[in-house]
Amino acid sequence: MLTTVNPDSTDLVQRSLKSVWHPCTQMQHHENTPLIAVSRGEGAWLFDPQGHRYLDAISSWWVNLFGHANPRINTAVKAQLDKLEHAMLAGFTHNSVVELSESLSDLTGNVLGHVFYASDGASAVEIALKMSFHFWKNTGHTKKQEFICLKGGYHGETIGALSVTDVPIFKTAYAELIKQTHVVMSPDDRQAVHLNGSQADERASRESVALRAAGEIEALLKARAESICAVILEPLVQCAGGMAMHDPVYLKRVRELCDEYRVHLIADEIAVGCGRTGEFFAFEHANCWPDFLCLSKGISGGYLPLSLVMTRDEIYRAFYDAKVSKAFLHSHSYTGNPLACSAALATLAIFREDQTLKANKQLSQTITNALRPLQSDSRVKHFRNQGMIWAFDAQVEDPLLKETFSRRFFASALKHEMLLRPIGTTVYLMPPYILSDSEVTHLAQRTLAVFDEVMG
Ligand SMILES: *Cc1c(COP(=O)(O)O)cnc(C)c1O
Repeated sequence: MLTTVNPDSTDLVQRSLKSVWHPCTQMQHHENTPLIAVSRGEGAWLFDPQGHRYLDAISSWWVNLFGHANPRINTAVKAQLDKLEHAMLAGFTHNSVVELSESLSDLTGNVLGHVFYASDGASAVEIALKMSFHFWKNTGHTKKQEFICLKGGYHGETIGALSVTDVPIFKTAYAELIKQTHVVMSPDDRQAVHLNGSQADERASRESVALRAAGEIEALLKARAESICAVILEPLVQCAGGMAMHDPVYLKRVRELCDEYRVHLIADEIAVGCGRTGEFFAFEHANCWPDFLCLSKGISGGYLPLSLVMTRDEIYRAFYDAKVSKAFLHSHSYTGNPLACSAALATLAIFREDQTLKANKQLSQTITNALRPLQSDSRVKHFRNQGMIWAFDAQVEDPLLKETFSRRFFASALKHEMLLRPIGTTVYLMPPYILSDSEVTHLAQRTLAVFDEVMG
C-alpha cells in the first residue's frame, strides 16, 4: 500500500513512481515512505497541491539560500531569458558569465582569479582533480598521479568523484570500478575528549584532534609527495558524511603542508561555500586560500544547475601554450549557462544588498538559542553548530530503529510541516537564510516534537 500524507495527489505520486527513478532512494521503500508532490514554493516553504506546507529546513539538499520563488532572483532570470537563454562557451562569451567570474574572483582578492564552469558539483570535483593532475604533467612532474582524501569525505558520485569520496553507502557497490586513493584521518571534532572543563580546554582538545589528523597527511607527504597531485577536503564541515565539523587550524596546517611538499589543495566548498559556515567561503575562517575551490549548490540560489572551479594564475599559466595538448580540453554542453549565471549574479547581489553574512550572525544565534533544549537532552549526542548548519546524533541503540531512523524521521517531519532528512541517525538543519522569528520557532519546536515522536 502506498502511503502519502496528501492522498489527493496520489495520482501524480503513482505516476511518478512508475516513470521517475528517484535519486538516492531505494524505490521499494516508497511502499511505506511518503513521496510528496510539490506544486509550489514560496520563501522557506514548499506546498503540495492540497496546500499542505513544509518548512524546507534542509534548503532542498542544501541549494536554496534565499527562499523559493525569490522575487529578485526571479526577475533576474526572467530578464536573462528574454536576452539569451544559452550559447556555447567555447569561442563565445557573454555578459553574465564574465560578471560572475569577476565578482567571484573579487571575493578572493583575485587570488583565485580564473573560473572554469560546469553544471553539477561532481563535475566540478572531476575538473579540479583533472586540472591538478594535468598541471603537474604540463610542468614535468609526471609521477604525480595520486590523491589524498579524508575519511568520511564526500565529493560527489561520478566515478572519478567517488574515488575521493569515503562514504560507504555511495561507494561500496562500485568498489571494483574505482581508482584507489589515500584516505587519511578525518579531523572530526567528535573524536575530541571533551573535558568537562573550560571552553579553553575544549578548544585545545579540538585543536589536538585537528593537528593529529594533519599529522597523517604530513606522514604521507613525507613518504611520497612526489607521487601526489593534491589533497581534497570539505573545509570545516564534512556534510554528506554526517555533518562532521572541525577546527580551522586544520585547514591552516594542511595549507602549510601542501606548500612545503608542493602538492595542491582542493577545497570542495560545494556545500559549505556561499555563506553556509558564516563567511562567504569556508576557507576564509583559516585566513588562507586553497589552489582550487569548487562551488555549486547555493551559488545559483538553488535555481539552476551551476558549478565552477576557481584557481590561481600560476595554475592557469601552466596550460597557456601554443600546443593544444597542454590545454584543458574538458567541457560540458551547458558550461557557463547564462540563465544559471544570472541566478548566481542575483544571489551575489542579495548577499551585498542585504549584508547577509552580517544578518546571518544574528539569525544563527537566534536558531541556536531556540534549539537550546536539544543541547541538554540526554538522547542527544554531539550537538554542534557552524554558521547556518546545526547537527546532532540521536542516541539510538535498537538496531531496527537505527536502520529506519532517517525514513521515520522524514515521515514524521512531514506531518509536522517540515522537510527534514537525517543522514543515518544524524539529524541536521541547514535552512535558507531568510527565516522569520516565527519560522525559527516552527523549526525548533517541530524538530523537537519530531525527535520525541521518533525516539518515543
Ligand atoms: C553535493 C556535493 C557534491 C556533489 O554535487 P552534485 O551537484 O550533487 O553532483 C560534491 N561535494 C560536496 C561537498 C557536496 O556536498
